[in-house]
Amino acid sequence: MALAEINARVRAAERAAGRPEGSVRLIAVSKVQPEARVRAVLDAGHRVFGENYVQEAAAKWPAWKARFPGVELHMIGPLQTNKAKVAVELFDAIHTVDRPSLAERLARLAEARGACPQLFVQVNTGAEPQKAGVLPDETDGFVAAVRGMGLPVQGLMCIPPEGQDSTPHFAMLAALAARNGLTGLSMGMSADFEAAIAAGATHVRVGSAIFGDRDYGGRA
Ligand SMILES: *Cc1c(COP(=O)(O)O)cnc(C)c1O
Repeated sequence: MALAEINARVRAAERAAGRPEGSVRLIAVSKVQPEARVRAVLDAGHRVFGENYVQEAAAKWPAWKARFPGVELHMIGPLQTNKAKVAVELFDAIHTVDRPSLAERLARLAEARGACPQLFVQVNTGAEPQKAGVLPDETDGFVAAVRGMGLPVQGLMCIPPEGQDSTPHFAMLAALAARNGLTGLSMGMSADFEAAIAAGATHVRVGSAIFGDRDYGGRA
């Protein structure tokens, strides 16, 4: 478990970028990790976690939350509209708002609950056909539409194309956020979180570098 080392690297990257200590939130991405590894990170005092699948998160986090006060849970995977209700009850933040139908559903749920998780709009910075997210060109319009539904938008999120330099994608996301008056930037994973912090990330999503490799049991 490499939590202390990753925390130290986050703090060093903040300093190197001339940013205040603690300005970057380290989201420990615990999807499909064995319980013992997650427990070790909770026992070490970490409280900010990310999950990709509503069902998996709903199965494991209510018990952890009861046992470890102060847990903050971030939804970072694609969110089906029919899982939105469970998601707003479980998660403190949703990083993957990417289409009007989902935003409308979230707006109705927020109204009924009188509360809303922090919301990030996912941007498909590489315009990859298989990847979720609004296209860069559509971002201004989509952010305006989501705000028009009465939803607070905290920031933007991206997953740069695999095997490419992430830096231009981080820069693009930062520019889109600034243009839309958004302060939150969810970007950077195990391989590139320091570059993301240099580019202004406020939330880095780090899984395998903290917990070790994920074992999908033969699944992709
Ligand atoms: C799995 C995942 C991560 C963490 O990836 P690592 O490379 O293990 O750090 C971050 N963001 C998203 C959206 C993910 O799905």
